[in-house]
Amino acid sequence: MTSSQMPVRLAVAGLIHETNTYAAEFAGMTPLRAFERYRGDGVVAAFNKSNHQVGGFIEGARKTGATLVPTFVGQATPSGTIEAAAYAAMKQDVLEGIRAVLPIDGVLLALHGAGVADGVEDIEGDLALAVRALVGPDVPIAAVYDLHGNMTDAMRDACDLTLPCKLYPHTDFHDRGVEAVELLLEMIRGRLTPVTATRRLPMLPYIVTTQDGFIPAEVNDVCRKLAAQGGVIDCSWFHGFPYADIAAPCPVVVCTTTGDAALAQRCADEVAQWIWLHRDEFRPTFPSPAQGIALALSADEGPVVVNEYADNPGAGTPGDGTHLLRALLNANPPAGTCCFASINDATVVAQAQRAGVGTTIQVSLGGKQGRFQGAPIEAEAYVKCITDGRFVNRPGSMFEGVRYDLGAMCRLIIHGVDVIVASRAEQVFDVEPFVLHGLDVTAYKVVAIKGANHFRAGYRTVAKHIISVDSEGLSTAAIASFPREKLVGEFWPLSDKVRFGGDAEVAG
Ligand SMILES: [Zn+2]
Repeated sequence: MTSSQMPVRLAVAGLIHETNTYAAEFAGMTPLRAFERYRGDGVVAAFNKSNHQVGGFIEGARKTGATLVPTFVGQATPSGTIEAAAYAAMKQDVLEGIRAVLPIDGVLLALHGAGVADGVEDIEGDLALAVRALVGPDVPIAAVYDLHGNMTDAMRDACDLTLPCKLYPHTDFHDRGVEAVELLLEMIRGRLTPVTATRRLPMLPYIVTTQDGFIPAEVNDVCRKLAAQGGVIDCSWFHGFPYADIAAPCPVVVCTTTGDAALAQRCADEVAQWIWLHRDEFRPTFPSPAQGIALALSADEGPVVVNEYADNPGAGTPGDGTHLLRALLNANPPAGTCCFASINDATVVAQAQRAGVGTTIQVSLGGKQGRFQGAPIEAEAYVKCITDGRFVNRPGSMFEGVRYDLGAMCRLIIHGVDVIVASRAEQVFDVEPFVLHGLDVTAYKVVAIKGANHFRAGYRTVAKHIISVDSEGLSTAAIASFPREKLVGEFWPLSDKVRFGGDAEVAG
């Protein structure tokens, strides 16, 4: 066998965490035990056929005949700053894992982009640079990110290919993973010499979906047009993750071309300028929970999904916020017309377990994890059922096929409203948390949930209307309300006087 016939060997490694640095004050730092950690063949078993970067790497290898060499992948649900020792241990797992399988032809990294450890503000840049130092300058590295990553120069410089997902809900993680394998193979075969340019925007927009009718869909259109030019391999953008007190938690446009640095920079600048000129469309205009519930109850038909943006466990919040549930109860809707999922309160679930199904208990529900979560709801609650909290997201959901275990859960009926209580914080992706507790949401007028945007995939065929509401909370859309000690430079909308690029001419 000549070297050109040898199967190409690609190492796979990953570390995935979206860090809400503000959550650490209330829920503590994120320890090593919060991470699922997979090694060797366990990586393939965990992610095969899933909508995950690594699922895409596996499929890409299958399609192209490349050999994957899985090493270490660690991931946890979003939460507070990662403990220093936890990050150090997983960084070592990645480096030792790759070192053990050298020599290799390329490296595939599954990263988030918004990971912060105690003392390391940019864990992806730190990790990718360490991988680069280990494999040397001639082994190509491709990284696939969540678009909510906070892209840094270190991340760009360490890797040959930087590929954030493009859709929010992130239904394209798998496809981006396949693309990464295909592009990496082009590099290994000497047919592609990529060059990447970035442009950072001095703005802190709120987190908004890429579905039609929302401004990020138009940004994606601009990217798509530029990517259609000859020589452009990829043009995309990181939306950024503003719930982190770091130097630059902001959008960054990233463009990769076939060796034409000037073209890459022109494209990145053009998209960035477009976003900047449309920045006012990234300012939130949400009703309050009470306003949203009133609108939902008066809608002509249901179900109306009302989502609680400000306490979205998908952005690392404690999930025990009571602002939306309180508004729902205060509206005093007819019994059996409204339901809510899920509030995180293991104490109340345990109380329901002790009392048993069919009993009525006095609860102090939620509002225990910090001053932004609202006061606990003091009420009488009927215990309708108790479950193991395990379900699988259904086809069409963003994480379809992914297994969830939210600990023991229960369905309480409070003043005629069905309330699902979990022992862990988790956003709602589809109807499964309700189905598990015997509820058919299509029979309800109002389906109130915690989440920002990912639920839109799972509720696409269910919701007649969607109303997003905002309040105080650790993922409120009022981005300017967060204290910023580490921010470097001026950012819109903290200041309306920020200038950017050609803005000087536009503004005169
Ligand atoms: Zn994301």
